[in-house]
Amino acid sequence: MFKKICTNCHQPSFSSSERGQWICPVCSHDITHVFHQPAEDRNERQKKLELLANKYTQNQNHSQAINKYI
Ligand SMILES: [Zn+2]
Repeated sequence: MFKKICTNCHQPSFSSSERGQWICPVCSHDITHVFHQPAEDRNERQKKLELLANKYTQNQNHSQAINKYI
């Protein structure tokens, strides 16, 4: 899977192939020559989830600290 961010509408679009013409599905802009990036794989998504979980834990600690303070 490849991913490109449209230079016109800034929406991501996905394709299974980096070859051939690539037209933005949102605004029909030709983004064939836009640099593509690999779409997020599972590991990447897992890392993000862990980051989010850490944030949530930190927020919980933060509110506990506030509770103690009150
Ligand atoms: Zn577009």
